[in-house]
Amino acid sequence: MQITNKGDRFADRHIGPSKEALNEMLNTLNIADLDMLIDETIPSDIRMRKELDISEAMSEFEYLNHIKALGEKNIIADNYIGQGYYGTITPSVILRNIFQNPGWYTQYTPYQAEIAQGRLEALLNFQTMVSDLTGMALANASLLDEGTAAAEAMSMFYGLKNKRAKDEPVSKIFVDSGVFDHTVEVLLTRAEPMDIEVVMGDWKEMDLEDQYFAVLLQYPDKHGEIEDFRNFVSKLSDKGIYSIFAADLLSLALITPPGEFGADAVVGLTQRFGVPMGFGGPHAAYFATREDFKRNIPGRIIGVSRDRDDNYALRMALQTREQHIKRDKATSNICTAQALLAIMAGMYAVYHGEEGIKTIAENIHKRTAFLASGLLSLGYDLTSESFFDTISIKCSNDLLTKVKDQASERRINFFYADGEIRISIDETKSDQQVRDLLQMFADIKSGDIAHDFMSENSYIPTSLQRSSAYLTHEIFNQHHSETKMMRYIKSLENKDLSLVHAMIPLGSCTMKLNAASQLIPVSLPEFANIHPFAPSDQTKGYMELIHELEKDLSTITGFAACSLQPNSGAQGEYSGLLTIAAYHKENGEAHRDIALIPSSAHGTNPASAVMTGMKVVVVKCDEKGNIDVDDLRDKADQHSAYLAALMVTYPSTHGVFESRIKEICKIVHDNGGLVYMDGANMNAQVGLTSPGHINADVCHLNLHKTFAIPHGGGGPGMGPICVNEKLKPFLPGHIYADCGGNKAIKAVSAAPYGSASILLISYGYIKMLGAKGLVESTRYAILNANYIKARLEEEYQVLYTGEKGRAAHELIIDVNPYKSLNVTAEDIAKRLIDYGFHAPTLSFPVAGTLMIEPTESESKDELDRFCDAMLEIKKELNEIATGEADKDNNVLSNAPHTLAMLTSDEWKLPYTRSKAAYPLSYLHQNKFWASVRRVDNAYGDRNLICTCPPMEAYEEAEA
Ligand SMILES: *Cc1c(COP(=O)(O)O)cnc(C)c1O
Repeated sequence: MQITNKGDRFADRHIGPSKEALNEMLNTLNIADLDMLIDETIPSDIRMRKELDISEAMSEFEYLNHIKALGEKNIIADNYIGQGYYGTITPSVILRNIFQNPGWYTQYTPYQAEIAQGRLEALLNFQTMVSDLTGMALANASLLDEGTAAAEAMSMFYGLKNKRAKDEPVSKIFVDSGVFDHTVEVLLTRAEPMDIEVVMGDWKEMDLEDQYFAVLLQYPDKHGEIEDFRNFVSKLSDKGIYSIFAADLLSLALITPPGEFGADAVVGLTQRFGVPMGFGGPHAAYFATREDFKRNIPGRIIGVSRDRDDNYALRMALQTREQHIKRDKATSNICTAQALLAIMAGMYAVYHGEEGIKTIAENIHKRTAFLASGLLSLGYDLTSESFFDTISIKCSNDLLTKVKDQASERRINFFYADGEIRISIDETKSDQQVRDLLQMFADIKSGDIAHDFMSENSYIPTSLQRSSAYLTHEIFNQHHSETKMMRYIKSLENKDLSLVHAMIPLGSCTMKLNAASQLIPVSLPEFANIHPFAPSDQTKGYMELIHELEKDLSTITGFAACSLQPNSGAQGEYSGLLTIAAYHKENGEAHRDIALIPSSAHGTNPASAVMTGMKVVVVKCDEKGNIDVDDLRDKADQHSAYLAALMVTYPSTHGVFESRIKEICKIVHDNGGLVYMDGANMNAQVGLTSPGHINADVCHLNLHKTFAIPHGGGGPGMGPICVNEKLKPFLPGHIYADCGGNKAIKAVSAAPYGSASILLISYGYIKMLGAKGLVESTRYAILNANYIKARLEEEYQVLYTGEKGRAAHELIIDVNPYKSLNVTAEDIAKRLIDYGFHAPTLSFPVAGTLMIEPTESESKDELDRFCDAMLEIKKELNEIATGEADKDNNVLSNAPHTLAMLTSDEWKLPYTRSKAAYPLSYLHQNKFWASVRRVDNAYGDRNLICTCPPMEAYEEAEA
């Protein structure tokens, strides 16, 4: 039997426009069919005509069965591995209302503060939690993982120490041997291109007279030991050496936090605050430091400001420090971080409060203490007498093998090091489990468990027990019942606009459908509860998925191999450039260090280039927005002997398929350089052309753009790199995994496959679309952008189009002409909020513009609604131009209008309330209200508050 109608295709659910809509849209575009549009958009010499070699599409139902079966190939063991990753209990109220809720996970990074107060508050809670527990003044809103957070701290202090250009930079960092080995790896990767020398050793033997800029310590250390660093830190400080602590945040509920004895920075992971291990991620790393370093802190910081009516309002602070602004002067390339996971961790603290967190930590410690006393009574040797949750058993090879055999038979995972077995207890472990462990160790020694070993003693030295309070702010003491918690989460969600409300037409960010069937498997225990360093016989399901995804992404990019390790697009850039540097070095050309970067590039490109030790030379763009090929040729020529790479975004950040791209690649190759393609715009390429086809050498993919991982309000993301044969040997390795090339560079992320659990989403996306659905998606993405262009171009000036007048998957409209009306791009962005839309990308890559990217997932109705809003705004602009509306007091300058304004007893604005709030009729059916009026960024940066302010601050604001 053969049934020809395949029934419910995922592609039909993923792609917005219907067949009927397609015809209407083609009419508007004045073109006969979609094939012709694609022919006019993509230069013919770079088109691929062959279908991608990707397995046939599965239906959603088939996929969910498939992924369940794949999950069953993973084994959930009893985990005691620790080393930074622990079992944790995600409170169901957080799991359901945040992690599995598109109202939270489909949000964008909170650049539009007026429609992002919910996640801004949740992130501020996270910062407060981190700053309370670490005892530091200031914390950021998350970094990618503990390893990169430590590397960021190293880089920050290297910069601070060598601020003044001296002859001889202080370039040594001392790293204690108690630091997690995988953190050290990531640090070494980052140190090498910066010429930082990493000196490993025992902190007690460190020569303080030597020239170091910083010291990195683990607290408690990798063996579990809690050392007393108080005197040491004060000596370091006397010598002007910065102290960085990598600390387990939960342990700081019981032990004296480094902030209380003078640390300069404290970094680490918040995974065990309710975020599953997920075979490596995603989880939020934290970075806390002193007030003095606020302008140097990497990543995003949420701060308190006020709106036009002096209401309390949050926004992202100090953005001028970020790579978007500072480009090659930036000290960090971090862009996408781990917002959603930071929000979850912060909520875990909100839900448990000080008492709850303390109890969780105490229970863990008591069970660890029970295990330790039992082991001691059995005659086992522990490496240390003080610990929080981790103990290390000293042992001979013989004993180690015996324990390993016994443990693996019972599906118990420990961490095995040289002559040492490490056991970490977490909040999921019961008394019975700990007793069973002990029984196993008793059996191995043929000993009996004594019954009098239990003592009430704490193994935390009295002098290091925490005495200070934390999580005292009201927010951590209010929402402890599930009803209250559920309502608190919902009240924040209601303030934020996400994809559940409307399209988010952000150019370059590709806010497409994040399908439920792609997201559901991420919470399956068989994927969520796997430790990143679990033995390979327990991770077969993951490895099958990882290899299949590597293969598919290589096929899509036209490359030979793929590394799934980088945790964000910017990390992909950094990793890709490192493989290029390794390639040149291998060929005896280590001196090649010039990176050519077009002026239109995203800020992360120059920032990443500098991190890999390259020097940035900017290439001009012509008036059509294309790379100025003559300028490129001149610069490539001029730097020929030193040319390392060109970084090019394709289609360009101007939304155009440059027809001379192959020529551009050739010029770079002829001068000895390699071509790095920024793949953020891959949504315009999939199935139609590819980086490999264009002759690039390496690209990163933003899986959180093109491949359907949601943005989560600023992360998670994934930035795998795909490379050709030349670069394949250098793909990053990892000390705990068999991954990377045969001449691998060292790890770029803490975990071997980055944030592995969200790879499921991109895998699902590819498997459910199949080759046909993937290429259809690209074609519709291009159609949708060109449809918007066709509808708007009579009223707005569209910048940069291809040779045949077509946009790619995004378009830029220029609003600089309205400057004379006192209207800025920001005014239009804020007015769009009144119409229920998130703004397009503002002023990137050209100042005073809006970059619109609809994606394939939006229907014609939604595109029309957006275009209607833009056209109505144009009428409002005309009213200012004709003098009908006041130049300084109009619907644009006052936008967004809040419900409080509308319902106020007073209305003094020179236009009606309905014009303010209901300019188009669809708004009567479905209205989204900004929760605050326009937020004052400058005020917030001058009066920087980055933790939940005390209640007096609210009162002051009200007064
Ligand atoms: C988003 C983006 C990046 C950075 O990616 P992250 O995942 O945010 O680090 C780089 N280049 C371009 C063109 C982008 O749009």
